[in-house]
Amino acid sequence: MITPATSKVSLLDKPIATLHGVGPAKANLLAEELQLFTLGDLLYAYPFRYVDRTKFHAIIDIIPNGEALQIKGKLVTMNQVGEGRGKRMTGRLRDESGAALELVWFRGIHLLYRMYKIGEEYIVYGKVEQFNNRLSITHPEMELAARVGNLDQATFEPVYASTEKLNKRALDARGRRKLIKALFDKLKPADLPEILPRSLVQGLRLMSRGLALKNLHLPPDQKSLDGAIRRMKFEELFLLQLRLLQLKLVRENQIAGYSFGSIGTIFTEFFEEKIPFELTGAQKRVLREIRTDLGRGVQMNRLLQGDVGSGKTMVGLMSMLMALDNGFQACMMAPTEILAYQHYEGIQEYLEGMDIKVAFLSGSVKGKARRALLEQLEEGEIDILLGTHALIEPTVVFKNLGLAIIDEQHRFGVKQRAKLWVKNKPYPPHVLVMTATPIPRTLAMTAYGDLDVSVIDELPPGRTPIKTVHFTNHRRERVFGRIRDEIAKGRQAYIVYPLIEENENLDLLALEEAYEEMVQRFPVPDYQISVVHGRMKPDAKDFEMARFKAGETQIMMATTVIEVGVNVPNATIMTIVHTERFGLSQLHQLRGRVGRGAEESFCILLSSVKLSKESRQRIDTMVGTTDGFKIAEADLRLRGPGMLDGTRQSGVLQMRLADLAQDGIILGVAREKAKEILEVDPKLALPEHLALAVHLEKYMRAVKGWGRIS
Ligand code: ADP
Ligand code: MG
Repeated sequence: MITPATSKVSLLDKPIATLHGVGPAKANLLAEELQLFTLGDLLYAYPFRYVDRTKFHAIIDIIPNGEALQIKGKLVTMNQVGEGRGKRMTGRLRDESGAALELVWFRGIHLLYRMYKIGEEYIVYGKVEQFNNRLSITHPEMELAARVGNLDQATFEPVYASTEKLNKRALDARGRRKLIKALFDKLKPADLPEILPRSLVQGLRLMSRGLALKNLHLPPDQKSLDGAIRRMKFEELFLLQLRLLQLKLVRENQIAGYSFGSIGTIFTEFFEEKIPFELTGAQKRVLREIRTDLGRGVQMNRLLQGDVGSGKTMVGLMSMLMALDNGFQACMMAPTEILAYQHYEGIQEYLEGMDIKVAFLSGSVKGKARRALLEQLEEGEIDILLGTHALIEPTVVFKNLGLAIIDEQHRFGVKQRAKLWVKNKPYPPHVLVMTATPIPRTLAMTAYGDLDVSVIDELPPGRTPIKTVHFTNHRRERVFGRIRDEIAKGRQAYIVYPLIEENENLDLLALEEAYEEMVQRFPVPDYQISVVHGRMKPDAKDFEMARFKAGETQIMMATTVIEVGVNVPNATIMTIVHTERFGLSQLHQLRGRVGRGAEESFCILLSSVKLSKESRQRIDTMVGTTDGFKIAEADLRLRGPGMLDGTRQSGVLQMRLADLAQDGIILGVAREKAKEILEVDPKLALPEHLALAVHLEKYMRAVKGWGRIS
């Protein structure tokens, strides 16, 4: 798209070497070390920290806690000490409090005498450590106090990502600041025009774009900096939402779908006569959302989120009945055979006495049975097909598939999901993906921002919350006692061991050793133990699972293969060994295997005594809450968005300023505003949206790995 605004070369596209004081050597260095080529690159490489040049710590008050501090003091001595590898330079810095600390350098020693002068006052920044009662900073950032004030009036100084090479060649913090000042000397207001519509800037009281960019680099005070950060975070999230919502619009306009206009006799009969419990408010709301979606005449692409045990299967089933009522078939795919068969059994039971044909397909349905099933499916004699990824094989042909549901969607790849789309002509089936790994709201709005999202945020009534306790290894005996107690009451127990993915043999060894121990503590014939691990053949695994499910064994020892969906309501105690080696969402999934019946259930987290700070926080979170959404939020805070399930490949999350763990409110506003604008002007063709449209094109090209997620 050629528009007046893009046809002339922007100043920001010019190379950094056009700046005053930047020769080819410096420009090359910036390109090599930081991939900064143009003035725009320089502008958008924001500082990662600011130093308040007016605030100093008095040395006498310092209690070292690993934090970096700023100190102003006089350099009183400098000495070269040690030999060979221990060779170093030490300096003493004394401040107004009268106390002193030591500065230490191991590198560049020969330069230091030239760089720093005894008797001068310096502003020093660095992590203060304590050795033998002596405070010291190793490789401090140091600047002459007299020069700092002169460079600019700003009390806040930006600090940029740097490298050792850059630091050596006068492109350290100070050099970079000079560069930025030169850049802003050159930029005129017209070079940084507003791209957001005026109504938005005024309505949200946003700082103008030009001022925000300047304040982000050279803030005169805290208030200007806060305003600048708010403005640029909003812009970033707003552009992302605009793009995601545009993608969604394109999909809705281009991909027509069947309109399931009516709720008919099947749904009504089920709802009035068959359903064994009252739906929760959340289930009802979600069903209404789905029903509206199915009636619009465009293909539904909806993500259904609900915590473990929130009753997603029922919502899935009732959505399938809507398809049946409109004369279509429906299918539901689950990631494991165990889970798929569980759905088959459960759904058949729900539908008993109704004239609906339900079938099951997996890799283990073979030969004649398979051929017969496929024929019936193509003839339209089967209404609901449940199964594993066998469903997406090309030989599986439906007569008219109206709705495809994918359970535990995070276990499937994007490609596998896409294969369901082509299972029907002329329109693709409606698609509902369900996940029990709760996704924080902010992440759902970004990583899945082009899907519609429904949330079941309420558990069915009458559940006794699972009691979670943490035990360190030396209290294992008590854990075994608790397991014995539960088994004595006729219940069953899980014991889960971690998986070391790089070394399956070691895993197996660890599991075997643990098994030896367990057999001694829980001897036959009083106790029967099942073992399930990832190396077993599927048949053997299913066999053991089935024995446990039938109550023939009381203890299930397993690696994380049981993580998803398995339903054994009689199991009431889950012990997780080496808890510190599991992630939060995994722990939550594992815990969800108990608490499925009426009895009170327990989850025991075993760990070693010594724990990292993060492990400790994970365990505290698990003990503190059973709410999957709260756990997901904590996970996001602890690990950052890049690590969460299903988002790794998305590329959506490479943001400069915004932080999904913290900026939920701004994100919500950004999405609302983006929606409002696209409702009025879906193509961003109005004159007041021109600058925005142009910028969006450019910005989105720059986001690496951008692609459709659904
Ligand atoms: P998940 O969302 O984890 O897939 P399920 O669909 O397996 O959860 O439901 C868990 C259990 O809760 C099942 O035994 C189901 O019958 C029961 N259940 C679902 N909805 C309700 C409800 N509204 N009231 C009572 N029990 C319910
Ligand atoms: Mg489920």
